[in-house]
Amino acid sequence: MPVESAYNHRMPIRQLSETMINQIAAGEVIERPASVVKELVENALDAGASRVEIVTAGGGLNLIRVTDDGSGIAEPELALAIARHCTSKLSDDIHDIRSLGFRGEALPSIGSVARLSIRSRTASGDSAAEIGIDGGRVSPVKPAAANRGTTVEVRDLFFATPARLKFMKGERAESSATSDVVKRIAIAFPAVRFTLAGPDRSTLELPATDDTPEGRLARVAQVMGKDFPDNAIAIDAVRDGVHLAGHVSIPSYTRANALQQYAYVNGRPVRDKLIAGAIRGAFADVLPRDRHAVTVLFLSLDPSTVDVNVHPAKADVRFRDPGLVRGLIVGAIREALAGAGIRAATTGAAGMMAAFRPGAAPYSNPGPANGHRSYDAAYRAPGGFDLSRSAQRPLDMGYGEARPRTNGFAENEQAAFDTGPLASADARAGMAEPAEALLGMVLGAARAQVHENYIVAQTRDSLVIVDQHAAHERLVYEALKNALHSRAVPSQMLLLPEIVDLPEEDAERLAMHSDTLAKFGLGLERFGPGAVAVRETPSMLGETNVQQLVRDLADEIADNDTVETLKERLDKIAATMACHGSVRSGRLLKAEEMNALLRQMEATPGSGTCNHGRPTYIELKLADIERLFGRR
Ligand code: ADP
Ligand code: MG
Repeated sequence: MPVESAYNHRMPIRQLSETMINQIAAGEVIERPASVVKELVENALDAGASRVEIVTAGGGLNLIRVTDDGSGIAEPELALAIARHCTSKLSDDIHDIRSLGFRGEALPSIGSVARLSIRSRTASGDSAAEIGIDGGRVSPVKPAAANRGTTVEVRDLFFATPARLKFMKGERAESSATSDVVKRIAIAFPAVRFTLAGPDRSTLELPATDDTPEGRLARVAQVMGKDFPDNAIAIDAVRDGVHLAGHVSIPSYTRANALQQYAYVNGRPVRDKLIAGAIRGAFADVLPRDRHAVTVLFLSLDPSTVDVNVHPAKADVRFRDPGLVRGLIVGAIREALAGAGIRAATTGAAGMMAAFRPGAAPYSNPGPANGHRSYDAAYRAPGGFDLSRSAQRPLDMGYGEARPRTNGFAENEQAAFDTGPLASADARAGMAEPAEALLGMVLGAARAQVHENYIVAQTRDSLVIVDQHAAHERLVYEALKNALHSRAVPSQMLLLPEIVDLPEEDAERLAMHSDTLAKFGLGLERFGPGAVAVRETPSMLGETNVQQLVRDLADEIADNDTVETLKERLDKIAATMACHGSVRSGRLLKAEEMNALLRQMEATPGSGTCNHGRPTYIELKLADIERLFGRR
């Protein structure tokens, strides 16, 4: 019916039915099967469960069943549990929320759009009882048989709201959204055992660990894969009563999207723009634009300084002091990255080892676990370095010619066996026994330069290969950035001040931050109501779109109360300059120059990756090399 007709034939005002009210609420709270699972699991956890079992069928549209061993619901309260605005979790203070639920609307909402039944037994109850609600129609409480705890069963989700049913994405997509929800929440409750099973999925089992730092990391590894802890740095920082803990991946271990960024505020899983933005900011100059860090971050703060009652799904939060939270996250991550010094992803070396391993079937090499980025795609290319074949063939049999050169690696492979004049010229840097002290350094002693770009170095227990161009680019970048942020950024006067018209609040915000902006070389001041005048811009930016820059800054201050944008832009320029100003590959280096480069890398935070996020060096453990040759 066209909207207009409602005005033409206006109906009298009347109170909506209870079921209708619940269905409207369900529209917000219950978006898809995964939202039902989220609400039911939250209820189980709020009830103190130590075991939560979830079963789904048909992507959750046919069946969702959640069983817990928590406190249970006493028989006389069963009817209240499915009544709107009835909760056992909120006292009189909306500012002090310590449970996952508090709105008292999940169960009645679900019951209005599906067939819901709750069977429960408390510790003191001598028997269980059950209640049902079917598209809003409540059936009377009846006795049942059950152990202590609660089983909630939801069948035929959205049968009562067919419009919503049409928007479901198909069984596979819905089951995988449910897995994500369970994993997300399980990270925050390591001491609880979770299982997720059903005919529509492969079983997920997360045995209980415990609520210690090790236990929490073990749970994270269950969820994200065993290689995450190996490629992660611990975060632990406090600022003004806000505590941040967790892990972030090292820059060479990244994903193509931000789905593996888990954030928790006082134990509640959240998807928060401010936190996501802070993570992006913290990694801005160690990751390429299209790559994302893997993170698990727990924020703990006084519940009265954060509002979780922003949206019915409770995944959004508002911080009373967003600048503090952002600053804490960015600062702590950057500090941790710097403290970790240089570290290359183990997956890179592992992928390479797999490709080198004699007998590795050329076409069946599995990709790295969990689809992690492989900058070493070439190592896994079909027809990769197949030692089992080369070992049986004389090296001079026209090896390279006999096989089609279908990929770059075939050429490298050829080059590796090439003992022509170029290679020997490269190898001239091969030198006398390295000093014992150098062998103890992270990147060891330089032994040779090959292919005019790779420094081969040796530590006590490994072989290190450094990409000289990438490494140098990074060093120049870090130096430029330091120069940039340690003193005022040079600015250029505009011939004529540029007037930017903005909403009054934005103009006001910019003016409030004008001192900081000036430090970055952007001189601006109020220009009557709803405008600012820009007199100076950072020289490094060159010809820049002042209007756009100022509006972006205003947006950012509004969102985050900081002026990161400008800093990030300047960093980006420093990166571009570094790229132009650094040693191109192809320059032959003397032994001292190579060692100097290695020492400088060791001393420079972030030098483990180049400005584009690729590793600047890889390390092969002697033990692995020995294994490769069958010596172990
Ligand atoms: P909320 O969680 O916001 O209180 P719900 O509609 O999700 O609202 O649940 C209503 C009430 O039912 C809860 O406050 C709780 O007392 C009870 N309840 C629901 N699920 C469980 C459970 N699994 N174990 C014990 N009590 C439960
Ligand atoms: Mg709830």
